[in-house]
Amino acid sequence: MTEQKAIVTDAPRGGVKYTSIDLAEPEHYDAKLSPVYIGICGTDRGEVAGALSFTYNPEGQNFLVLGHEALLRVDDVKDNDYIKKGDLVVPLVRRPGKCVNCRIGRQDNCSIGDPDKHEAGITGLHGFMRDVIYDDIEYLVKVEDPDLGKTAVLTEPLKNVMKAFEVFDVVSKRSIFFGEDSTLIGKRMVIIGSGSEAFLYSFAGIDRGFDVTMVNRHDETENKLKIMDEFGVKFANYLKDMPEKIDLLVDTSGDPTTVFKFLRKVNNNGVVILFGTNGKAPGYPVDGEDIDYIVERNITIAGSVDAAKIHYVQALQSLSNWNRRHPDAMKDLITYEAKPTETNIFFQKPHGEIKTVIKWQ
Ligand code: NAP
Ligand code: ZN
Repeated sequence: MTEQKAIVTDAPRGGVKYTSIDLAEPEHYDAKLSPVYIGICGTDRGEVAGALSFTYNPEGQNFLVLGHEALLRVDDVKDNDYIKKGDLVVPLVRRPGKCVNCRIGRQDNCSIGDPDKHEAGITGLHGFMRDVIYDDIEYLVKVEDPDLGKTAVLTEPLKNVMKAFEVFDVVSKRSIFFGEDSTLIGKRMVIIGSGSEAFLYSFAGIDRGFDVTMVNRHDETENKLKIMDEFGVKFANYLKDMPEKIDLLVDTSGDPTTVFKFLRKVNNNGVVILFGTNGKAPGYPVDGEDIDYIVERNITIAGSVDAAKIHYVQALQSLSNWNRRHPDAMKDLITYEAKPTETNIFFQKPHGEIKTVIKWQ
């Protein structure tokens, strides 16, 4: 048994404690690791609040170690050609089950869902907010760029965006989506929400040539507007200024009323990516006009969840590019660094938060 400190909850009931736990060393593992930085997102907060009924503890255990947005250091590793002691790595969150998609490394597209696959810190598998982690090399992605520093902790949330653009690339091929110059330059992308995932979507959209606007139902804080400005992203408070003629709509709010308000502004052959989830959001009465609108314009609405190992690799490449061009703005995405003992950050979102991280060591 390894006694260690960890941040735990009891899924799906909730609660949070920084406490000592005992975990058995697995029979087989390639690497022994420890956390450097771990991000916190709405999922962690939902778990602590007991609001996510789909979460569960690992089999036979009465607690779940939290944390899935991890940047880890390799403390020990068996002989191999990829990872060495001292390297920084990002661990995959979702672990494969037995279905056909899981067997080809695409557990993000698991054909069965629970309990076929598991997600570290969320469903049936301990997360990374603990002193000692054992894992296999196949589930680790190396951080090659030493200049990334703490921003490498954004790999996990960004990998979701990379997968969503893979979905966009597939579904947008049903007609000619590009302009007559064969680029996406000038095509309009609108992102509902202005949280951490929205920021990462906006930068990825700019890279592809989109004219990108992030929207929310209130004005935004100075710190957020400054980062958007640096990347060439626009912002609109849609209660005052409603964007029109949208080619790609991405929702990070999970709010049906807002999604349909914007969906009715999507152009012919437009694409809508549903990404945000909020089981508690009030319903919206879809009417015949809404359906007509979608059908008559060949609009594609696609859900996108999680991502595959390739998207972690792509995320690291994008982070390196962005970090080279806008190093200060990239650091400013991390708005607060907490200590592991500061468990109150799971209850309260600091004002102007983009990404709060726990600095483990
Ligand atoms: P977040 O920081 O809470 O972002 C949500 C954003 O949506 C916030 O900026 C929020 O604004 C905004 N929002 C809420 N209701 C809105 C409305 N009616 N109109 C406009 N904006 C609205 O969370 P995140 O970490 O960026 O994640 C975004 C969403 O993606 C969450 O729902 C999360 O659960 C989900 N997610 C999905 C995946 C996936 O694989 N599909 C992966 C990770 C996360 P205010 O806070 O300012 O009110
Ligand atoms: Zn599966």
